[in-house]
Amino acid sequence: MSSQKPYSFFQSVERSFDKAAKFTQWESGLLEQIKACNSIYSMRFPVKMDDGRIEVIEAYRIQHSQHKTPCKGGIRFSMAVNQDEVMALASLMTYKCAIVNVPFGGAKGGIKISPRNHSAYELEKITRRYTAELVKKNFIGPGIDVPAPDYGTGEREMSWIVDTYQSLKPGDIDSAGCVTGKPITQGGVRGRREATGLGVFFGIREVCNMEPVMAKLGLKTGIEGKTVIVQGLGNVGYFCAKFFREHGAIIVSIAEYEGAIYKADGINEEELFQHRKATGSILNFPGATNLAKNGDALELACDILIPAALENVIDAENAPNVKAKIIAEAANGPLTPEADEIFVEKGILVVPDMYLNAGGVTVSYFEWLKNLSHVRYGRMEKRFTENMNAHILNQIEGLTGKTVGPKDKEFIMHGAEEIDLVHSGLEETMINATREIMEIMEANPTIPDMRTAAYVSAINKVAISYTELGIFP
Ligand code: NAD
Repeated sequence: MSSQKPYSFFQSVERSFDKAAKFTQWESGLLEQIKACNSIYSMRFPVKMDDGRIEVIEAYRIQHSQHKTPCKGGIRFSMAVNQDEVMALASLMTYKCAIVNVPFGGAKGGIKISPRNHSAYELEKITRRYTAELVKKNFIGPGIDVPAPDYGTGEREMSWIVDTYQSLKPGDIDSAGCVTGKPITQGGVRGRREATGLGVFFGIREVCNMEPVMAKLGLKTGIEGKTVIVQGLGNVGYFCAKFFREHGAIIVSIAEYEGAIYKADGINEEELFQHRKATGSILNFPGATNLAKNGDALELACDILIPAALENVIDAENAPNVKAKIIAEAANGPLTPEADEIFVEKGILVVPDMYLNAGGVTVSYFEWLKNLSHVRYGRMEKRFTENMNAHILNQIEGLTGKTVGPKDKEFIMHGAEEIDLVHSGLEETMINATREIMEIMEANPTIPDMRTAAYVSAINKVAISYTELGIFP
């Protein structure tokens, strides 16, 4: 990885946008408005650490677009957080939501800290203070801006956020909808934890089921037997590995912060996770070989490479060495624009982040809807469906004189639980988004890659909602 980047992350998003905008007919002023970050809140606040020291915390919340409200996007805790990065991630959220038809504008938050260097108590103080700052400036609320987890944050941080918000906004009946990615007990939805990884799986499965696309890559259709490499064994990487493995793919290599391992006959992500928990590292996993550097995993031969850690991990320097046939961008912005161009030339299919990792925001949307409706999915209809199915089954058995086997009976009678509905909604969303992007590419063969087609899809949808708002008549 080179240290000198010719473009900032936000500039690389703008470059991709401009490239795609040429394939649309929208007026240049409207395109400028779509690209711009509407509201930027850069803050500094003091927090007293466990040892009595006062640390000034640098943090951001950026709302890229309010063409639909609320705005939506995760909060990351990382020392790499800066305004440019948060702006880029906020704009990707706008495009992502548009592509998967989630009716939100894009936003993103970031706190410049390394969670590893803070105690849980310090992290709680930082998170609560950050939330209070957002409330003060009206930058959070179920109808304004709804954060979610991202790199370095999870359910615990979302609990602190909702609790702080509720204590500052007593009586707000919809307050649980001020943040998503909450634990179930705090108003979370079943299926949120695995949503991004499962969405990546559904998106790639759909691509792998497209015969002409696979033929071009010299691959057979389907997931079964495909070799997969995953970078990052965090929330997204872990669930990517799990769903691909469960559907017959072979996870030949996994890379983490501390190193990378290779195992030709496949790695079980849960066993590796437990190994890491016990030893503090993914290295020395039984039956696997340690690689010299964690970046080496990106350059091994495989069918599908899944970067699921950080941005800009593949650039002009290492892209020529990448041997994967498909790159599934589970992380946000893992490729630089130069890497992208190299892959187009090499005929490697890049399935872009801005829609592929939309599973998290899609299920966040379901969580938000659940919070606003104050009822668990499936609660009203599950028993009714089961009674109805039992009745139909009895009638069929009575009329035919045959009995249905116990396994089939259970399957037919089953009424949908929350998890079934969430997974089904996510599957539908990812399949539709994949097909829409592929249709854009088919309709205009001069569009060079899936990322550009995804941007075209996003630009068209956001532009239409601006014109519908009457802002650009
Ligand atoms: P996470 O913090 O749970 O996991 C990230 C993992 O990457 C960590 O285990 C970390 O140790 C590892 N890592 C860091 N540097 C590495 C390196 N150089 N090589 C290999 N591994 C490294 O974060 P996450 O939620 O899984 O997010 C990962 C990416 O996916 C981010 O780009 C995020 O923006 C994106 N994303 C997350 C979600 C979500 O729902 N969590 C949704 C959409 C996109």
